[in-house]
Amino acid sequence: MKILVINAGSSSLKYQLINMNDESVLAKGNVERIGLSEPLLKHTPQGRSPIEIHGDYKDHVSAIKEVIGTLIHEDYGVIESMEEIKAVGHRVVHGGERFSSSVLIDDEVMKAIEANVELAPLHNPANIMGINACRNVMPNTPMVAVFDTAFHQTMPQKAFMYAIPYSSYEKFGVRRYGFHGTSHKYVSLKAAQILKKPIESLKIITCHLGNGSSIAAVDGGKSIDTSMGFTPLEGLPMGTRSGSIDPAILSYLMEKLDISCDEINALLNRESGMLGLSGVSSDFRDLHKAAAEGNMRAQMALDVFNYEVKKYIGAYAVAMGGVDCIVFTAGIGENTPEIRTRSCSGLEFMGIKIDEEKNHRKLGRSDWDGDISADDSRVKVLVVPTNEELMIARETMNII
Ligand code: ADP
Repeated sequence: MKILVINAGSSSLKYQLINMNDESVLAKGNVERIGLSEPLLKHTPQGRSPIEIHGDYKDHVSAIKEVIGTLIHEDYGVIESMEEIKAVGHRVVHGGERFSSSVLIDDEVMKAIEANVELAPLHNPANIMGINACRNVMPNTPMVAVFDTAFHQTMPQKAFMYAIPYSSYEKFGVRRYGFHGTSHKYVSLKAAQILKKPIESLKIITCHLGNGSSIAAVDGGKSIDTSMGFTPLEGLPMGTRSGSIDPAILSYLMEKLDISCDEINALLNRESGMLGLSGVSSDFRDLHKAAAEGNMRAQMALDVFNYEVKKYIGAYAVAMGGVDCIVFTAGIGENTPEIRTRSCSGLEFMGIKIDEEKNHRKLGRSDWDGDISADDSRVKVLVVPTNEELMIARETMNII
C-alpha cells in the first residue's frame, strides 16, 4: 500500500510517498514559494538524482496537482497512476482537546480543525489549505489528519493546567497542549524496540532538540508531561525562541521598549533563544564554531541550553518516579555529541553515564543501534533519528 504524507505550510508543501509494504520512501520533495514569485518544486525519486521544476504554483491546489503529475511522470515518476495512492496523511499542528488521536477527515472533522485556528493561527490555516487542496484534487482518496498535539492528550490535569484563573481554561482553552507529539511517539516506540522491552514497562525521557526543541516524559508509552505548552514558545530556549521566562518580563519590556503585543511576540519568538543570547546565530553548528574560537556569548548560550535540558531530565525523572531510558533526536539531538555529553554530565548519581566513543559514532552504522550509554550505566541513553513522515504514514494506514 502506498501512502502520501503531506506537511503544508503557508507557502510550502512537503511530501513523501511511502510504500508501506517495506516502509521505503518512493519519492520525496517540497514545493516552495507557493503563491509567490518563482515558485519551485524539488523532487527526489528513490535512488535517483533530485530534479527541480519551475512552474506557476499560484495556490496549494496547483502545487498538489504538480506533485501528483510529478509522481506519475513517465521520466521521474515512481507510480503509474494517482489511484495507486491509497490514502493521504496530513500533518496538522493543533488538535486542541478534541483530538487525542489521528482521525479520518470528513466535513465535521474539518470544522473542528478550523475551530482550532485560534489556538495555532500560524499553522492550522496552512494545514487546512493543504487538506482542502488534496480533497479537491483527489476527491475519492481517504485523508487522515495526524496532530502534533494528540500524543500529549494523555497528560494528567495537574501537568496541563496553568495556575491562572480557571475561567481562562474554560472560556479560551488556555492550558498546556505540547507539540512534536508525532516525533516523541515515534522515538519512544523505537526506543522500546531497540531495548527489546514492552513500552508499557518503560519510563522514557524523549529530547527532541532541533530549531524548535521539546522534551517529553513518556511513562508506559503515554506522554505524562512535556516542555512546550499552550504554544511552542514554552520550555527550553530554542534557536530564536525564548522558552520559559518570568511572565512579568513581558509587560516590563513592553513598557521599557514602548512596544506592542505583536512586537513583544516577535521579540520572544524570533529574536530570542540562542540567537538573542549569543548575538551570533540560531544554528548550533555556528554556535559551537564561535565558542571554539573563544566567543564567550556563544559559549554562554550553549551553557544555558545544556543546563535547561539537564533540568528537564531531572524534573521528568522525578515526575515518573524514575527513568529507564533517555532518547536524543532531531537536528541537534542526532548530530551533536557535545550537547548530549553536557546535558547528561553530572547525572551519574541518577545512573546516567555516556560512553564517549559511542557518543561520537556517526549514525547509520549497521552494527550499532544508537545506544551511547556506558556499559555500567543503569539508564540507557539512545540516539534515535526521528521520522515524523513515517509515523504519519503508519497512523494513516492504521486508520484506513
Ligand atoms: P527543525 O526544528 O527546523 O526541523 P532540525 O531538527 O533540522 O530543525 O534542527 C536544526 C538544528 O540542528 C540546527 O541548530 C543545526 O545546527 C542542527 N543540525 C542539523 N543538522 C546537523 C548536523 N549534521 N550536524 C550538526 N548540527 C546539525
